[in-house]
Amino acid sequence: MTRYGNTKKSLREESLAPKKQLGQNFLVNKATANAVANCGRIAKDDIIIEVGVGLGALTQPIAEQAKEVIGLEIDSGLVRFHLEKKDLQDNVTLLHQDILKADFDDLYLRSQAKLKIMANLPYSISNPFLFTLIENRKKMDWATIMLQKEVADRLTAKPGTKQYGIPTVLLKSCATVESLLTLKPAEFHPRPKIDSVVVRINFNEPTTQAPDSYDWPLFQKIVRASFSQRRKTLLNTLTAGGFFNEQAAGDKKMAKQLTKEAINSAEIAESLRAEVLDLEQFIDLSRSFSALLTSS
Ligand code: SAM
Repeated sequence: MTRYGNTKKSLREESLAPKKQLGQNFLVNKATANAVANCGRIAKDDIIIEVGVGLGALTQPIAEQAKEVIGLEIDSGLVRFHLEKKDLQDNVTLLHQDILKADFDDLYLRSQAKLKIMANLPYSISNPFLFTLIENRKKMDWATIMLQKEVADRLTAKPGTKQYGIPTVLLKSCATVESLLTLKPAEFHPRPKIDSVVVRINFNEPTTQAPDSYDWPLFQKIVRASFSQRRKTLLNTLTAGGFFNEQAAGDKKMAKQLTKEAINSAEIAESLRAEVLDLEQFIDLSRSFSALLTSS
């Protein structure tokens, strides 16, 4: 079976039709796979976690550059295929595993260091995958991932744009994001409808404020509640978030008044919408909400 080039014919020979529901768009060009692997800036001592091995198009150049690759693949047919053919390099360990159910403590132990993750990611899991990385941010070194362009654009979006939202703000609180490479649909089989972009998410580089300097779980809830209805004001979305329901003992007016006080004490107008706030303002909100919640 050829890994690059005539992917379609080879898949047919192996009775491995690409599964749309698993986002199977395989890279078909070796030079492109090399270029994507290079975005990882892999050192020869690195242990790399690759999510979604597929036919191994990206695994091969990663394994050439790294000490070891731990490859995760959800599709049992593809896992069986590699086990039978023994076509992956000796330094690749293949695990039949859903990344969304993976035990990050176990991956951390296997990596013997903070995680370095590479993936050509299915569109359907990009958001939950990104939130999984954010959840496990303290175990992360970097992730170099290929995403649909519209998802990648959200990660580097600026306040005031329609791409700016929950993943942008949460990721910005714990990582820096570089957009590195754009790939056309012709680089894949089957061809997706739109361009893909490789981004590198660096969890180890200092962001504006260390996530440990404020209540991160509360910050996360505030960001999610603020964007829950983009057209509504902060006062309405954050009141609906129910942060002060307990203090107000069921009095809706009082809950709204406390929410207004908390927003204003962060020196933010309650009539603003979430999409215009930058990271620092969300952090200020989480500090003032925290102060009011603990004072009452
Ligand atoms: N890396 C290969 C390449 O670049 O040609 C395949 C990329 S293909 C876009 C995505 C791969 O991820 C598929 O092989 C698919 O079966 C696998 N996959 C989909 N969902 C997954 C999940 N939740 N956990 C692990 N692998 C997954």
